[in-house]
Order: sequence, then C-alpha cells, then structure tokens
Amino acid sequence: MTADLLIRNARPFGGPLEDLYIRDGRFVAAGRARTAVEIDAAGHVALPGLVEAHTHLDKTLIGMDWFENRVGPTRNDRILADRNAKRELGIDARRQSARQIMQTLSYGVLSIRSHVDVDTEIGIANIEGVLETREAMRDLVDVQIVAFPQSGMLPRAGTLELMDAALSAGADIVGGIDPASIERDPVRHLDAIFALADRHAKPIDIHLHEPGDLGAFCLDLIIERTRALSLQGRVMVSHAYCLGMLDASRQVGLIERLAAERIAVMTVGSPSAPALPLRLMRASGLTVASGSDGIQGTWEPYGNGDMLERAKYLAQRNGMANDVDLEYAAQVCTFGGAEGIGLGGYGLSEGCFGDLVLVPARTLAEAVALTPHKRTVIRRGRVVVDGGELTGGLPAIE
Ligand SMILES: [Zn+2]
Repeated sequence: MTADLLIRNARPFGGPLEDLYIRDGRFVAAGRARTAVEIDAAGHVALPGLVEAHTHLDKTLIGMDWFENRVGPTRNDRILADRNAKRELGIDARRQSARQIMQTLSYGVLSIRSHVDVDTEIGIANIEGVLETREAMRDLVDVQIVAFPQSGMLPRAGTLELMDAALSAGADIVGGIDPASIERDPVRHLDAIFALADRHAKPIDIHLHEPGDLGAFCLDLIIERTRALSLQGRVMVSHAYCLGMLDASRQVGLIERLAAERIAVMTVGSPSAPALPLRLMRASGLTVASGSDGIQGTWEPYGNGDMLERAKYLAQRNGMANDVDLEYAAQVCTFGGAEGIGLGGYGLSEGCFGDLVLVPARTLAEAVALTPHKRTVIRRGRVVVDGGELTGGLPAIE
C-alpha cells in the first residue's frame, strides 16, 4: 500500500489554494488523512492527469533511426507508406508503445486512448504488442485500445474478421475509418462497425476526415445508429473536419444533434483542415476531447505527446487568447478527454483517483500559455515524475 500523501498549497484546476490528501490511492477529505508524506506545491496549479484521447502508440518511431519522409501528400499515399514501414522498419508495437508512454508520462499524461492497426498483413500482432505494454505499465497509466482498420476494412477481405478477433483478444473499442473515401460504402461500413460494437458490447471511435457535405452525411448516419442502439456516451468521432466546413446554420444543427446523443468529438486542431468551431461546440455542451494523433511517425515527424502543449496549440489554432478560452483548452485536454473516453473516478475531488500534475504556474491560463515542463506527476498517490524527470523504480522498456 502506498503511504498517504499530503500536497500543501496547490491550486486545483487553477482555483484558490488548498491542501489535497491522497489515501490508499484516492483523494480524501482533510479529516480522513493520517500522518502522511508531505509535498509543498508552492502555489502551483494542480491538474488531474492529462488525457491523451487519440494517438497511435503502435506506430511511433521514438528512439528509432530518423525516418526520411518521402511520402506523397494524399491519405492513400500515407496509408501505403505506413503499411510498408511496418514491414521494412520492423516497428515493434510493444517496445514503441512503451517508449511513447514513458515519454508522455513525464508530461503528466496518465490516460491514453490509442488506435492500434489491424490489417491483413500484420493481423492482430500490434494489438497483442500494445496489450503487453498495457499490462506492464498498468500501475503508471490507463490505456484504452481501439481496434483500427487503418488500411480499410470492406475493401480488404478478412479485415472485419480480424477486427472481431482483436476485440475478443482484449481491444476495448471498435474503430472505424472514412466510410466514404476509403470504404466507398458509408452505410455498409457503419452498419458493420456498429454491429461489432453491439455484439461485443464495446464503444466506437471513428476516424472521420470526410469533408463538407460528405462528412455531414456520415455524421447523420452515425447519429442515427447511435440512437438506434442506445449508444449515447459511447461514441466518439475523431477529427470531424466537416464541422469546420459547413455554413453556420448547418454547424449549429449538427452540433446540437451530436450533443443530444452525447457523441463526443476529438480534435487535434489539424493545421491542414479548417478549424472546428470550438466556441460553438462549448456553448452547445458537446463533449470535446483532444489528442496528439501519431507522434514522430511516418505520417508526420512532429509531436511530443504533451497534452498541455496540445491545449496551447488548440487555443492558438482557434484564435483564442483570453484566459477564459485558455481555461477551456485546458478543460478539453483533461475533463473533456476523460468524459469523451469514458474514464471513471477522474478529477481532483474526494473519492477520485489520486492522480494529479503539478504545473509551475499560478493560473490555468498561464499553465496553458507557458506550458512549463518541470512538472511533478502523481499517480495513485505515488510521485512518478519529479521536476520533469521520471523517478526511479519504473519498469524498463526494452
Ligand atoms: Zn488517428
């Protein structure tokens, strides 16, 4: 059992100074704490664990040789290069997922939803690799695994059966991919993945890059199926670029219908698509989460997986500069992500898991704008990162 922990002089989510107590891995009221190890937070902001709601742990090249990117500009170019790289570079999903988790742990990312490739060349090997990492690191981070048909599902015979096998093997979520531009048959693709979700009693997370009207049509199909199968609160749409491409009245209608079915939207704030209407999404009560997507991979060489930097990036991408907007960006990368991926026991209040990140800043807006890296990270009442450095006693990667 971990010793009780008392964190003095912290500002929970940027609020007034408070002392926080963690006993047996959960926050407790002051009166219930025993004599404890003490940390002086020095008036710094305390965030709940940062939430990475969308990444690809099995495909990062962190720690490997530099990948000379000569990949063409289209999504199909990238999918083909990605599949070739898995074959030619020998990307070990177990090792690479562990490397990314350890890197992002140092920033305070304590919950991760990762899409993991399933295809007819690798079968479910990447799922098995990330499952192994998840087990080895379960004391440090929560990992959700999405069975993801990156190379397409309907056009590649055998993939649907592999998705089924991945879910039986331990994947938590059914992934989907552009129902029209990649799958060429939106109704059949969505019927297939919703049927999988229904059969395995698992949530859904769909990569939807389809633009404008085509994307709006796909969102309508997703809304219909979510309602029909009573999957409210269990469906996430990743990217949803179309929301940034429609005229204002159609944006409002679509966002309200998504919110009514409690369908969450994940946005990375992509620089290659119109910005999503974040203020409208916030006002409509839509659950908005964010993620890094692939970091340091064949798709893009960028990214470090720091979800506080992602909050800053989202704010910049949306022309946000005032404190209230920066606070919303922090909310998207913490509570929004937690709600979007369905985390239980999340937050800084009594009864929640004793996870937090101390950021050397006095307000939430300052934390987002300056993204200081010398953070202290506490997981279930144990200090795992001190001043930005991983503490000893953590599992070895290789
Ligand atoms: Zn992705």
